[in-house]
Amino acid sequence: MADDQYTFGDPVTRYPKIEPPVQQQPEPGVQSRMEPVPDLGEQSYRGIGKLTGRRALITGADSGIGAAVAIAFAREGADIALSYLPEEESDARHVIELIEAEGRTAVPLPGDLTDAEYCRALVAGAVEGLGGLDTVVNVAGKQVWQTEIGDITDEQFEATYRTNVFAPFWIIKAALPHLGPGSTIINTASAEAYSPAPDRLDYASTKGAINNFSKGLAQQLAPKGIRVNVVAPGPTWTVLQVTRGVDPETLPEFGSSEAPIGRAGQPAEIAPAYVFLASPESSFVIGETLNVNGGMPTP
Ligand code: NAD
Ligand code: MG
Repeated sequence: MADDQYTFGDPVTRYPKIEPPVQQQPEPGVQSRMEPVPDLGEQSYRGIGKLTGRRALITGADSGIGAAVAIAFAREGADIALSYLPEEESDARHVIELIEAEGRTAVPLPGDLTDAEYCRALVAGAVEGLGGLDTVVNVAGKQVWQTEIGDITDEQFEATYRTNVFAPFWIIKAALPHLGPGSTIINTASAEAYSPAPDRLDYASTKGAINNFSKGLAQQLAPKGIRVNVVAPGPTWTVLQVTRGVDPETLPEFGSSEAPIGRAGQPAEIAPAYVFLASPESSFVIGETLNVNGGMPTP
């Protein structure tokens, strides 16, 4: 049997220590054009029915962490509604093919999350396409590197907050009337929520907001049987990094110094945290931030 996420082995060498060449694409980027292409678990993720019959809406589902989550969820038995930008159709098709190969339903709902009307239509489309909704996973995010606060335009600051903070708010608000007991909401923060790098003030502060918002909301919804949790990834090799997410000159060392494990993570390594938080096995886990970051200390 080929290796899967349950195969015992050394985590340091489980995935290669990558040294990506300097490369850049315009936002939001196309993952299939990256060098190397991130590992979404296409060959390795093995489902065991943890999410049988679940109906999940996932944002940013075309690439990176969101795509790895979509593949993992489908292999665990869930049907998936996918949010992504229209420019990302080719990446989305790759994920949709893998979902359908599991015999699960994929509902593509492309659009721009900075638009509240799209967020509401997204939820309505997911409910219609999946025949209901019990899992909301906000993964989409915007990160643009700027060394000086003076270089962060008002437009960038607002777009980052709209994408990372406002969109999950709009989506959760629209989804709640459809979510019954047992439903789960998972948001995506970052190691940046605790240790903000000086060159991404807008991005890092949205991640602090997401953590805080989620912990408050978790208390509100716990008595209703709806669990809210967060995944906070550390440096993970995704197209976000090559679309001005970080200083391009630093790409060859990406992830090797921040994380004690000594390498960047792959999206395939982040997805199981979302599976755990979506699944009933985490029934007593509420308002938690699960840090998946190769060993970076967290509060
Ligand atoms: P990614 O670029 O593959 O995914 C981000 C996705 O966000 C895009 O695919 C896109 O579909 C979506 N998106 C962005 N702006 C949008 C908009 N206006 N409308 C609709 N969709 C939009 O990169 P990723 O690294 O997998 O990012 C996923 C999440 O993980 C983000 O929230 C990011 O902040 C978080 N994160 C990533 C890392 C990392 O090192 N890669 C670390 C910590 C947290
Ligand atoms: Mg993408």
